[in-house]
Amino acid sequence: MQLIRAIIDTSALRSNLRQIKARAPGSRVMAVVKANAYGHGLVPTALALPEADAFAVARLEEGIALREAGIREAIILLEGVFSAEQLAEAAQHRFEIVVHDPFQVSLLERHRGEHRFVVWLKIDTGMNRLGFRAEDFAAVLARVRALRTPPAEVRVMTHLARADERDCPMTRQQLDRFDALTARLGLARSIGNSAGILGWEGGCGDWVRPGLALYGISPFPRGSSAEFGLIPVMTLASTVITVRRVPKGETVGYGGAWTAPRDSRIAIVAGGYGDGLLRSLANGAPVLVNGRRASLVGRVAMDMIAVDVSELAEVEVGTRCVLWGRGLEVTEVAAHAGTIPYELLCGVRARVPRETI
Ligand SMILES: *Cc1c(COP(=O)(O)O)cnc(C)c1O
Repeated sequence: MQLIRAIIDTSALRSNLRQIKARAPGSRVMAVVKANAYGHGLVPTALALPEADAFAVARLEEGIALREAGIREAIILLEGVFSAEQLAEAAQHRFEIVVHDPFQVSLLERHRGEHRFVVWLKIDTGMNRLGFRAEDFAAVLARVRALRTPPAEVRVMTHLARADERDCPMTRQQLDRFDALTARLGLARSIGNSAGILGWEGGCGDWVRPGLALYGISPFPRGSSAEFGLIPVMTLASTVITVRRVPKGETVGYGGAWTAPRDSRIAIVAGGYGDGLLRSLANGAPVLVNGRRASLVGRVAMDMIAVDVSELAEVEVGTRCVLWGRGLEVTEVAAHAGTIPYELLCGVRARVPRETI
């Protein structure tokens, strides 16, 4: 009997990439596969996406794992490198690097090597996290162009802070600022994450950087995958390991956090915070049992949850459950836990087997 597992639908992944390409017709796509491809498995995800023009990761080690798996496409380090050693490794693996801090420009100036990098200069248009401010940009560009080993190409990018808020004026301001600064440079530009691509006119640029949408999830709060023709890639599935009667008035689980309001049937399902289910998914979070909706009751434990199946017939040891994925949007489950789908997906622990279909 299979317990908790993350079923990864690679045909959905490819279909989502096609949907994104259709919405960003003039753009090339760097598939964002940081954080173990949002929990979906770094290498299998990249291998399932031969149509991606490039892959984007947060850390050097993630890029190296892709090269070791035989990925030959461009790989972009979204936060760049932080030492001379890392820069040398980035050269060795032919990574493209984001440069967002003067320290990284100095590393490039001190670097002695033949490899000509593709350098992505990051411009801060309002996110106030990474990137050069508009007033500093021209000087940085001049320094990068004057490197002893000149870059193979300089490109520019920015990141949107509030693109998931459909009516927020900040995104338009960021797009306008970026355009004002970069329109006449003749450099390739990258703007949109998933919400920028799907929600905003002019939110793409020459390169788009989809993450969440690639995994089939709408980047908008309360959004649904179907609205954009996306298909959830991960289904976190599990199994009932016992069913018990709980008489009215008795409690279930640690802390007695749920009291049976009537004589109840409770299914115990494999999967807990040791697998990445958040403890904030308490009482009332939705679970699909045999394809029908039921509610989590009591607390999430390390290896198990309890689900009220009083209303459902034919639930027994071995009955299949879905914690999120096909038939139950991770966005809805995340809302119950007071979080966002990103955190639930990335949080799926290594002990959960990934089953690629
Ligand atoms: C993670 C990341 C993305 C992808 O964001 P999604 O919202 O998942 O599409 C794009 N760009 C940068 C710089 C990122 O760090």
